[in-house]
Amino acid sequence: MTNRTFAIIKPDAVKNNNSGKIIDHILNSGYEILSARLTRMTLAQAEGFYAVHVGRPFFEELTRFMSSGSCWVLVLGKDNAVEEWRKTIGATNPVDADEGTIRKLYATSLSENAVHGSDSDKNAAIEIGFFFSDAELIACQ
Ligand code: GDP
Repeated sequence: MTNRTFAIIKPDAVKNNNSGKIIDHILNSGYEILSARLTRMTLAQAEGFYAVHVGRPFFEELTRFMSSGSCWVLVLGKDNAVEEWRKTIGATNPVDADEGTIRKLYATSLSENAVHGSDSDKNAAIEIGFFFSDAELIACQ
């Protein structure tokens, strides 16, 4: 069964001209891109998206960074998409990420770590709904 997950190519990766390489990595790893859009989050949107982290010491830095420039928001399809995408991107902190993962390749720090990936099917559905309407999603084949 094909599942969906939600991904972001974060502002650091866009600024560093790594979007194309990351999209190549996505396609070469067997994901189908079901929808994608270049956008720039407002601070309020970033605060809403990361509401689970309200009160954490890094919340302000995180939301300021995520609204600091353009990012790609994507819906990816693959069997077991959520778990697979977490493996493809690697650990949150790039120093802990495995060789060959997107964060190992392109992240520059814990806060500027190139990509986002949903951590559960439930959150993937919520995060997809945050940015995309049903009409914008190409049906999984
Ligand atoms: P993720 O699911 O791997 O993205 O990690 P989390 O959901 O735990 O955190 C969301 C994002 O907040 C991460 O991708 C990091 O960019 C950032 N972040 C998490 N922990 C820290 C931290 O301790 N310090 C800073 N500066 N940023 C953090």
